[in-house]
Amino acid sequence: MPPRRAAGTLVYSTELGRTCPDCRRSLTECRCREQATRIVGNGNVRVGRESKGRGGKVVTLVIGLPLTSADLAALATTLKKRCGTGGTIKDGVIEIQGEHRDAIVAELQALGYKAKRAG
Ligand SMILES: [Zn+2]
Repeated sequence: MPPRRAAGTLVYSTELGRTCPDCRRSLTECRCREQATRIVGNGNVRVGRESKGRGGKVVTLVIGLPLTSADLAALATTLKKRCGTGGTIKDGVIEIQGEHRDAIVAELQALGYKAKRAG
């Protein structure tokens, strides 16, 4: 009588054959999930400003927000609406067009962040 094979022993990993639709790496090598949940800032929130170029186009910068990039994007949208202006995110820093330090500090504090004005 041949040895009986227990059910399930022939299952081999399908994980190896699967790739991430975003980065095309195998799921074992993919870091997309990690990136999406990675907190960008250190929680030391500072609201500063910077003028760009000789024209002196001013942007308000928000650094140190302890958020993931997705949450950072959502907050940037809130701040843009609040200030009625445009903006962007660069390397974990929210840039809002124009000088809005006071409004943004007030908004962040209302949202529960210990934000401080810098510069
Ligand atoms: Zn990926």
